[in-house]
Amino acid sequence: MDRPHGRMSFHLTQVLAGHGCFGEYLHKIGKELTAQCHHCDKERDTAQHTLEFCPAWAEERRALTDKVGNDLSLPIIVNRMVESDEAWKAIVSCGRIMLRKEMAERERERRGRRERHAAPNPERR
Ligand SMILES: [Zn+2]
Repeated sequence: MDRPHGRMSFHLTQVLAGHGCFGEYLHKIGKELTAQCHHCDKERDTAQHTLEFCPAWAEERRALTDKVGNDLSLPIIVNRMVESDEAWKAIVSCGRIMLRKEMAERERERRGRRERHAAPNPERR
């Protein structure tokens, strides 16, 4: 059993658990006023939205569907992960999305709170 499946990254765990920097979760724990996605116009940001639908992560998603196919629902993904190392690696690399969402979240916290309109535009400056 040398396969790296036991070493599940923290961020991947968050993706699969639906926790982490998803609007719906942040809203539930009181960190955000709404469950809205900050990366597109969707009114509810969930793990599923991020993984399957959010246009902000199209590039990462393409890399993932290349490896695991077009069905990115969580049960399917988990199955693929234990079936194939290729799929496992592709999914782990999606942990990067979480890092970027976290960075965006921190950025919003830093300056957002008092500005009150959260323009999702970190490149501007
Ligand atoms: Zn979105």
